[in-house]
Amino acid sequence: MGKDGGMHVAHRLGALLVSIVVGLGPAQSSLATARPPGDAGAQGIGDKYFPRDGNGGFQVVKYDVRVRYRLRSGELRGKTRIVAEATADLSRFNLDLLLPTQRVLVDRRVARFTKPDPHELRITPRRTIRAGTRFVVTVSYAGRPGSVSYLGQRNWLASPQEVVTMNQPHMAPWWFPANDHPSDKARFRLHITVPRGTQVVAGGHLVAKSRRASGLTTWRWRSTEPMAPYLAYFAAGDFAIRQGSTAGRPWLNAVSRRLTPAQRRTSFALLAKTVAVDAWLESVVGSYPFDTTGGLVTSLDPGFALENQTRPTYPFLGAGGLSTVVHEQAHQWFGNHVAIRRWRDIWLNEGFATYFEHRYAQAHGGRTTAAWLAAEYDARPPADSFWEVRIARPGRAAIFATPIYVRGAMTLAALGNRIGTDSLDDVLREWVHRQAAEGASTAEFIALAEEVSGEDLDSFFTAWLFSGTKPTASAANGL
Ligand SMILES: [Zn+2]
Repeated sequence: MGKDGGMHVAHRLGALLVSIVVGLGPAQSSLATARPPGDAGAQGIGDKYFPRDGNGGFQVVKYDVRVRYRLRSGELRGKTRIVAEATADLSRFNLDLLLPTQRVLVDRRVARFTKPDPHELRITPRRTIRAGTRFVVTVSYAGRPGSVSYLGQRNWLASPQEVVTMNQPHMAPWWFPANDHPSDKARFRLHITVPRGTQVVAGGHLVAKSRRASGLTTWRWRSTEPMAPYLAYFAAGDFAIRQGSTAGRPWLNAVSRRLTPAQRRTSFALLAKTVAVDAWLESVVGSYPFDTTGGLVTSLDPGFALENQTRPTYPFLGAGGLSTVVHEQAHQWFGNHVAIRRWRDIWLNEGFATYFEHRYAQAHGGRTTAAWLAAEYDARPPADSFWEVRIARPGRAAIFATPIYVRGAMTLAALGNRIGTDSLDDVLREWVHRQAAEGASTAEFIALAEEVSGEDLDSFFTAWLFSGTKPTASAANGL
């Protein structure tokens, strides 16, 4: 997420993070009936910052999300098919979905379900699902996503002319049932149906556009590589689309026609720089992890940019937006390909993406990361509340606070001073190589930095990541 928006979201979280309103629907009483043997999957995946996010007992293999969206009324009708693999015997399990649900099938048989609270969909299949087996869940649902909130957030970004499903850390439950956590990536197919003449843009590849009855068109998009649910999105509205291929990699850029002609020209010129930014990032941290690239500029006002996988989403940025493109593209490696297993480790996304803004500037005639680090360090006295956030244990209200971005990036710049830039680059490349498949944590990053550099870095990382005070200016701290 771009840093300005980070503040925006952090502010909302801080002000509004309250316990979920628990609405017990009339269907609740049906739970009193006897359950078949086997475990109930947990309602959360085990992330202490967001106890209801994700679910226990299974992992998703793929999502097939079919949505019809009416821009003018804001009504969404969906039918999502999920292929999942049980990691325990499941007599019942949960999905995360904020919209009213009409029908659930498990392996093509009608299953009982309840909404024990607005965020959870609890499903009881007719037969216990055995650990290690694959099963298919089909959920039919409908509602107005603009009218629902979770943890005080109303994340549906839409007008009667345009919609973009961009947000972090939560977005999926507004438009499809999900195992909504970065530790469970899956492949995605999206089938988005809108009135003919409206464009739909998403991440991945545009597979087909098909005309349907009553003036509708279905746009089909597919992502080849696994993706965390919050990174999936669609945008619908009046978009100009440009696509091509550079050095064998396809790209697709889209800009809202609701922006002025001058704004559209500026936006396309900015998005056109994405392929060069990718090439530069590849020269530092290794191959771009996906098979398509690009970006989308909306006319709506999200207040932030987001690193949606393969095709980030941006507000109108003006001519000075290049550092935001670098930030969101750096996230393709750090945040998307290498995903955190717990939200408390968000600095592994935001600190890294911010570091690459400054590293890019250094490589393109700007000041060095060492000079940037020194300036940031000198500008903030020890009493500045900036130093109070413990970067690797920020607390959930501060996961998108400014220090996560800036002190997180300062940590990498200081690490470069301490172990040398070549050694830091070895750490970053090896990080991507090792953690992409299994996810990432701060402890693993520290262990890798020590392994690659051959140095004991405990006091360095304590000072930068675990202390709520300004690190002392010493060579040991990279200062
Ligand atoms: Zn970011």
